Amino acid sequence: MFKARILSLLVALLFAAALRSQTPASWTTPLPPFKIVGNLYYVGSEDLAAYLIVTPQGGILINSNLASSPAQIKRSVEALGFKFSDVKILLISHAHYDHCAGSAEIKRLTGAKYEVMDADVPVVESGGATDFNYGMDKSMHFPPTKVDRVLHDGDRVELGGTVLTARLTAGHTKGTTTWTLDEQEGGKTLHVVIVGSPNVNPGYKLVGNKQYPQIAADYQHEFEVLKSLPCDIFLGAHGGYFDMLAKIQRMNAGDKSAFVDPGAYKAYITDREQAFEAELKKQQAGRS
Ligand SMILES: [Zn+2]
Repeated sequence: MFKARILSLLVALLFAAALRSQTPASWTTPLPPFKIVGNLYYVGSEDLAAYLIVTPQGGILINSNLASSPAQIKRSVEALGFKFSDVKILLISHAHYDHCAGSAEIKRLTGAKYEVMDADVPVVESGGATDFNYGMDKSMHFPPTKVDRVLHDGDRVELGGTVLTARLTAGHTKGTTTWTLDEQEGGKTLHVVIVGSPNVNPGYKLVGNKQYPQIAADYQHEFEVLKSLPCDIFLGAHGGYFDMLAKIQRMNAGDKSAFVDPGAYKAYITDREQAFEAELKKQQAGRS
């Protein structure tokens, strides 16, 4: 009896350790928050991006990240001199636990209105249980969170004079959202694009996917949309998409336009589209 309990405790500990080891250190390593441009700030960790947009009517937060992230995000918002309770609207890049698991806690702390792209709403409200690929994988689940406004492709999110546009760029999830907004700096308009995710995860079925029959067509549509967007400032759901740590170094060395990088945006989209096409060809040839 005693031995069995020790054994089950050991199994539980090993399981917890395995879960934790799935989370890269860069996802939880804090990063000093900073201004990107205009009223747009970075408040995420070393790799899990979270963005704060500050307006006279309160803040918009993009991404709540891991269930453990709200405390880090709150500290970053406060370090910039803003009040966390001023966050009025919460948005996400897509309904995976590394971008939306903290949403329930952030709603509780701020009372923010949670606005999510239509096709990601069931996943968010089921805590990941209805995800087309990870629904059965409990390690990918997160606290179910009620959505307050269902967004559709092209919808605008407005607060205090700032307008964000939600672009449906599905494939990675059915409701993956790329956010665009314009910022003014030095008398110039800068187009900002926050990429939702163009990545084909390991194990994604692009051919004959019963849970998501139109997945390949959605990715193809996503790349058409991403290629059509004017972009001066390239951002995304992970810092790794846009080489953030290198850009911070340039910014800290005095480069005021370190984040203005339209060439990197184009190169990134091309690279991701090629990776998608290669994986699709491989699966179509039955070599997946
Ligand atoms: Zn994801």
